[in-house]
Amino acid sequence: MKDAEKFKLLLESPKRIAITVHTNPDADALGSALGFASILKQLGHDLMVISPNEYPDFLKWMKGNEEVVVYEKSVAKVDSFIDEAEVICCLDFSDLKRIGALGEKVRSAKAIKVMIDHHLEPEKFADIEKWSVEAGATAELIYDLAEEMNWLEFIGPEEADCLYAGIMTDTGGFRHPNTTKHIHEVVANLIGLGANTSRIAKLVYDTNTESRLRLMGFVLSQRMVVMKDYDVAYIYLTLEDQKKFNVQKGDTEGLVNYALSIANITIAAMFTESKEMVKISFRSIGSFSVNEFARKNFEGGGHANAAGGRSELSLQDTLERFKSLVIKNKQQIRHEANTI
Ligand code: 5GP
Ligand code: MN
Repeated sequence: MKDAEKFKLLLESPKRIAITVHTNPDADALGSALGFASILKQLGHDLMVISPNEYPDFLKWMKGNEEVVVYEKSVAKVDSFIDEAEVICCLDFSDLKRIGALGEKVRSAKAIKVMIDHHLEPEKFADIEKWSVEAGATAELIYDLAEEMNWLEFIGPEEADCLYAGIMTDTGGFRHPNTTKHIHEVVANLIGLGANTSRIAKLVYDTNTESRLRLMGFVLSQRMVVMKDYDVAYIYLTLEDQKKFNVQKGDTEGLVNYALSIANITIAAMFTESKEMVKISFRSIGSFSVNEFARKNFEGGGHANAAGGRSELSLQDTLERFKSLVIKNKQQIRHEANTI
């Protein structure tokens, strides 16, 4: 039986369904989860949407946001829902390590596991999968699923807004190579269903606080290093900087793209110091796979042109390590940059 048929059969009678997204959820993770949750609720299912940790304010406008349960803050409540759940849907990630402590809980749960995702090299943990690396966003896969399942009548303006937000952000505002004809068709249909594109762009991109804008100015002038001979630029942020600028969750999101916006720069990285580790974001243009680079060197992964990872070395040592890896990989970086 095909996975789509198994899923259809599974949802024929009301079920207790947990939907979880990855740690530090972005607009695609939350938009997919909340859009999907609303559809499933209208079909009569009992839902809990779980985020492993807190997320930034600019993502808190979506329909159903007030019902999202943050695992870090409500461990017992989530654990008991998971214990009783009949279905667990994992959205916008395909490696249980991406949800921290919740990962082992999900793995050992008796529920049927569903994975809907577009990240490279998925872990095989789910009973039912809708996975495609061709998809630009998980929200695109949710739309496709809704079409296959005849659920489009359950996508109103608010659900369309959630899915549109995921697509808009994961395609970098329709600029990345994952911006396909199909994704534009999906977006056209979402607009037809009532998505308010200008409102969402404003809510997601243009709700800076004054301190975030000042942080950006500081980072770009004081914390950006351009390795011109290597076509690489990186940004770093110390704990002290974060204190000085009162950095809140989400304030550093997207900063890495400024480093990538410099002419001829083909690889960009951002290093954010925290008490436990250094969190890293990688971006590339062309065929140099930051997914592979992050996987090999920084316990991470993601997509070919956008990935993340971590380092348990000090910030200084992490930066040194990164620089030496860049120097070591010079030939490959230069060669692959030419494939743009
Ligand atoms: P960001 O740099 O925006 O945090 O993440 C870029 C992409 O890489 C996203 O698709 C995200 O899901 C993925 N990603 C970020 N951090 C990690 C990580 O530590 N491990 C893996 N496997 N993927 C990551
Ligand atoms: Mn995504």
